[in-house]
Amino acid sequence: MPFTPFHFGHALPFCFLDWKKNRIDLLSALLASVIIDARATYIFLFHLNAPFHGILHNFFMATILGILIGLLMQVTQKWWNPLLKKIDLEQHSSLIGKVAIALLMSWIHVFLDATIYPEMNPLWPFQSGNFFFGLLSSGQAYTICMFGFIISCVQIVGYYFYRNLRKEHDSDALLRQQGEYQQNLLSISKSKTND
Ligand SMILES: [Zn+2]
Repeated sequence: MPFTPFHFGHALPFCFLDWKKNRIDLLSALLASVIIDARATYIFLFHLNAPFHGILHNFFMATILGILIGLLMQVTQKWWNPLLKKIDLEQHSSLIGKVAIALLMSWIHVFLDATIYPEMNPLWPFQSGNFFFGLLSSGQAYTICMFGFIISCVQIVGYYFYRNLRKEHDSDALLRQQGEYQQNLLSISKSKTND
């Protein structure tokens, strides 16, 4: 995919599948969906004369990067979580959960790119050539990512709606309000019996 941020489109719907945030790690998914383009971005930014889809655009390197991202996110979770908590997205997934979603996202990146770039070698170092080329048209690959953005927008609205409902349900303020209401009812009924 020439424009890296499009890859967030295939990651975001997975991020918001787990509303309790204890299975699918949001940051592992997002980072793993774009890390494959790290080298391509470097080449693009510094105008280097090298192919965009090089050493990182294959399933072998995607597997190594996916595992490394899962480990990195597990170790650094304590630093990210205070920030994520501010937008009600604190993560609690296990290391296995992080590695699993990171692998899936990095593999999807390689697969989508491989369907539209003939020069890639997705099975390197075991086999050269690109058997995935042509499985999707460029338009279809972009549509999948765009569709992912649309789905995730709906999910995000649903997520915050659900979280707010739970908060309102649990909140101390609501309990206090209910207590005061009951007190008022009691005092009204008492005054009526006194009359
Ligand atoms: Zn790519």
